[in-house]
Amino acid sequence: MSFNVVAACPHTIVCASDRRLVDLLSGTIRTNRSTKMTVFGCADAHGVTVYNGIGLDDDGMTPSDWLLELEEKRKLFNCRLPDVLDGTSADLETRLRKLRAKYGPKKARHTFVFAVWREGASMIYGVSNYERVDEDKQSVEGSEKVTLSTLPPEPKDDARVVTTGAPSRFADRRAIKEALKAGTLNRVRALSVKAVRDAAYGKGKGIGTVGASAQWAQLGANRDEVWFGLDVVGGAVAQETPNLINIAAEVPLGGSWRARIGGPGTLVKDTYAGGEKVAHYNPMKKAAVFPEPLCGICGSPWPASHRSCEVCLYEGQHKGKRHRQVP
Ligand SMILES: [Zn+2]
Repeated sequence: MSFNVVAACPHTIVCASDRRLVDLLSGTIRTNRSTKMTVFGCADAHGVTVYNGIGLDDDGMTPSDWLLELEEKRKLFNCRLPDVLDGTSADLETRLRKLRAKYGPKKARHTFVFAVWREGASMIYGVSNYERVDEDKQSVEGSEKVTLSTLPPEPKDDARVVTTGAPSRFADRRAIKEALKAGTLNRVRALSVKAVRDAAYGKGKGIGTVGASAQWAQLGANRDEVWFGLDVVGGAVAQETPNLINIAAEVPLGGSWRARIGGPGTLVKDTYAGGEKVAHYNPMKKAAVFPEPLCGICGSPWPASHRSCEVCLYEGQHKGKRHRQVP
């Protein structure tokens, strides 16, 4: 399912999303470090996209991989924004058709939310077959057609907050809106991360479809004003970055240290920055592998970048013997 917050006003865009991936049929937690956030630049805009719905398709690809594939194979993000949205929409419709035939319309539901700077204005778009960014309701069944919805700037007192995926608390949305209007951007970010946590620990009690660690991104109207980070209950020993397409972004490393990652013409996936080694390169898979042993107390996957287990909050030695290895 997942959970996302997107907040936009004339000065900033803030976005937060959880990182849990659950099995489409059984609902068991597959990983607590699935990156659902992609920051991108295209011909006439830059922005961030997050998703909810499908976590992993039958080919073992996440919707983040679908976006990277659109860039690798079709250079979609070299196009203008309307083409990026149309291209993502058409690709999603094709992929959902297969999932719908196999799992039925209730399981084949998916949303990409785009928060974008274009011509100096912040815009929010939804690409979905079951919900819209300009309406607060969802269809139980995903339709065959994927629809584009838009939430443009409001004429007066512009502060837009959209949450998608799992239900959000009204109080959380209102608090984010008020912080946006007050221009306290650090607070907007903190409240967005809190909304993810509330969604995780609310009805799901920490073991539902929404994870409690959040990736966040903050984007200004200029393309070099892009920041992101990972906010983990109990603290992170490393920052895991969102995926990046065609854009550079800065990650805070503590104190005055920061790292700038990515750039025009590059694709960045599975990257981390920090004081501890949390991944290694596997030459057979030609990919970085992020070990994720199971918590010895509750059995939930525990990413190496997290200081404590996000489900039971156990804080034992991260590399201690209380972990069971993933079978
Ligand atoms: Zn645990």
